[in-house]
Amino acid sequence: MTPVALVEDLTAAGFVALGLAVAYRWYRERGRAQGKLTIALLALAAVALLGRLPQSVVLALVEVVALMISAYFVLLFRDEFLPLSWRAHSAAGIIFAAGIVDGVLLVTVVRNASTAVVTAFGFFYVLAWALLIGEPVVRFWLGSYSLPAVQKTRMRFLSFGFGMLVVILFVDVLGGSALRSSTSIEITQLLALATVPLIYVSFAPPSLLRRIWRMSEENAVRAAMQDLLIFSPTRKDIAERAVFWAARLLGGTGGYIVDAGGNVIAGERDESAGPVVRAPLHMPDGEGTLAVVAGTFTPVFGTDEVTQLRAYANSVSAGLQRVSVTERMAAIEKNKTQFLNLASHELRGPVTVIRGYVSMLEAGMLGQLNERGRKAADVMASKVSEMNELIEEMIEAARLEEGGVTLRAVEADLRDIARSAADTVAPLVDAKHRLELDLPERRVRVRVDPDRTRTIIANLLSNAIKYSPRGGDVTCQVRSRGGVARVTVTDEGLGIAREDLATLFTRFGRVITPQTEHLTGTGLGLFLARQLARLQGGDITVASVEAKGSTFTLQLPAVSQDGSAGGGRKTAADAMSFTVHDSLSS
Ligand code: ADP
Repeated sequence: MTPVALVEDLTAAGFVALGLAVAYRWYRERGRAQGKLTIALLALAAVALLGRLPQSVVLALVEVVALMISAYFVLLFRDEFLPLSWRAHSAAGIIFAAGIVDGVLLVTVVRNASTAVVTAFGFFYVLAWALLIGEPVVRFWLGSYSLPAVQKTRMRFLSFGFGMLVVILFVDVLGGSALRSSTSIEITQLLALATVPLIYVSFAPPSLLRRIWRMSEENAVRAAMQDLLIFSPTRKDIAERAVFWAARLLGGTGGYIVDAGGNVIAGERDESAGPVVRAPLHMPDGEGTLAVVAGTFTPVFGTDEVTQLRAYANSVSAGLQRVSVTERMAAIEKNKTQFLNLASHELRGPVTVIRGYVSMLEAGMLGQLNERGRKAADVMASKVSEMNELIEEMIEAARLEEGGVTLRAVEADLRDIARSAADTVAPLVDAKHRLELDLPERRVRVRVDPDRTRTIIANLLSNAIKYSPRGGDVTCQVRSRGGVARVTVTDEGLGIAREDLATLFTRFGRVITPQTEHLTGTGLGLFLARQLARLQGGDITVASVEAKGSTFTLQLPAVSQDGSAGGGRKTAADAMSFTVHDSLSS
């Protein structure tokens, strides 16, 4: 056997094997689209096989018809998932018929005509064939761009495989006798043979190849997964993204998620497109399902995909759980804020009325009171103003939650603000306590909301007094260094245990111990103080030793000589470590 004959036999065998392989797959799965591809490839196999038999007119007739059928059915295969218009359909029918007539004439009447005529008929025959098959080749390639990695590569293999066949046939017909040398025949035959594996893997890619193709998308999937698990805000959102990526990951055409009750919460439940692969989804309200639907051109799912989908579904479950916890917490937080808002506003009215009457009582406008009555009115007045403060705190906290706090920043001397805060708390200072103001000689310039800042300092001072029930010194020191202005409030009171420090600045966070349980408070003061400090570019920090006392430090950006506000968060944080260090070493 000559090398040429050997190569030709090999190529023919390759196409026959391809035809049989696709026919076997179709026999097992029976898709309409698969059926059309099967006819196309069986026709090609027939052409390859007949080409190896002794030539006769009948065989030649069968060959030209079969070859044209192969192209026509590739077009019909394309029509299955990229539908053709009726115009295109009719045009394809005409080209198909013309091609067959041309081919029949070529192998019968025209057979013995001059070379030029034979070449012309051959050219038109191949042109008709190339038109029918070339259109899907181009469409597959263009259509592949928007597809998931696996489908994209398969489409391209198919397109490339058929594309090569078109080129080979053209070269063969147009090259004529120039290409009749044994070397050129060997080359074209080998090229044709090379299209066999290309076309084969396009419709039946082994799982190893599928895995390799998928790799290119893995980073994107990982990023998407992170996004899914950490950032997706709602259940609906997470479900939609999960469906999109699951389909993409497996190269399916779509998918859906159903909850435990069978309701579709994302995607579309359309299982007519192709086989479906499902994985259980552990949702907060029971077991749901994540499903991916294969399309006409999707690889029929194998165990590899099922395992992958299950692993993916587990992550999605975790994401859904997270969202439901966050949603529940958000709802609780919202309720809290609404309650704060409602309660504080509802209380404000009656308390104002009571305050009015109490001051009228004190002023004797409702008749003269005796000694006991005056004492009672004094107590009432102080309790009512305590209540009023609580209500104002609640209103401020609710406002902060809703982002409704507007600060009036002006340039001020922090020493003045500290003095005024000390005046505010003066009524609380009794015989057991000594309040000392330690102010620098020079101005401490800050750009802040003076009222809010006074409230913060007054709160720190009143806490220092309140939480030193046995008395002691309370110092309020104001300093400015390195662009940071600091107000340090130190007491010799109860102190705070290390493990309780984290709760101080939370909303309603109170440390209840036998020594503090009889002291009244809302747990809102420090929360508000820190939020307000942060809104002004500062912060509040604490250093405390149980039973020895505490030091609370308010940091604010100082205004430098040129008038700009310095400091900021970073410097404030640096100052914090300085404070802690200071208080530890003292
Ligand atoms: P309130 O004083 O209304 O309870 P705060 O938010 O002002 O709320 O304070 C929160 C908690 O921090 C207090 O309940 C108290 O346990 C603790 N705390 C605050 N300041 C001091 C301090 N100077 N010494 C000891 N504990 C303090």
